[in-house]
Amino acid sequence: MTIKEIKCKSILTKSKLPGCDYVINPYSGCLMNCAYCYSRFIKRFTGHKEPWGSYVDVKINAADILEKEIKHAKKGMIFLSSVTDAYQPIEKKYKLTRKILEILLEHQFPIAILTKSALVLRDIDLFKKFNDITVGMTITSLDKNIKDFEPVAASPKERIKILQTLHKNKINTYAHIGPILPGFTDLPKIFVAIKGIVDDVWLESFNTRGENWTGVEKILKRKYPELLPEYKEIFFTKKKESYLADLKKEISNLSKKYNIETKFFVHGE
Ligand code: SF4
Repeated sequence: MTIKEIKCKSILTKSKLPGCDYVINPYSGCLMNCAYCYSRFIKRFTGHKEPWGSYVDVKINAADILEKEIKHAKKGMIFLSSVTDAYQPIEKKYKLTRKILEILLEHQFPIAILTKSALVLRDIDLFKKFNDITVGMTITSLDKNIKDFEPVAASPKERIKILQTLHKNKINTYAHIGPILPGFTDLPKIFVAIKGIVDDVWLESFNTRGENWTGVEKILKRKYPELLPEYKEIFFTKKKESYLADLKKEISNLSKKYNIETKFFVHGE
């Protein structure tokens, strides 16, 4: 594991992500090491040779830079974080995310957070003071074996409890169900678990580009070989079209049944 302290030149980055004006990534790299991680593409811009998930650069001056940048920024939605998890374990030591939130709170910028870490509850005192905030947990599955794909993240049970705690504290919450992994992501079960504790649900199909697929394939080969033919058929043959059409139907039905607003992002559409 390589941890390096670095100084960044800027931290508030304009974004074209849906619903976001800016992103803030306090860390570069992510020690959560999820097998399917979509953010690994960022590695080629950093000069790191280590495998994704085994290194992180800590932007130690992030708060100082943000203090300067925020004064000139037009108010808009800020997302934490797009290519790292702002609450990965190292945040416990560096508290960069907390310092960033303190600055954003001073200026009352609207924010959206997405994490898989229980450390997010540390900052509940700050969340309560924002006028416009939504905090999301990624819930890929309720199956405890999902740990094979998300080795460092909180367990599914913990993640549901975190959403309950946030909701009890009157903080807007959402569940991010993604990537949807056949054999693991049981949508009806997840909807039952999150009903009443989330304000909306974002769903995302599995993007099998490059190492996103090879990371998952490696685990399937080693631990779930019986699922491998199904994955290959669903994601690499014409079957994909009917799979996605069925998924859309299922999501729409669940959305109506539980009266939860959903947004489904399909990669490649
Ligand atoms: S927590 Fe997010 S950014 Fe970090 S490895 Fe997992 S998917 Fe990637």
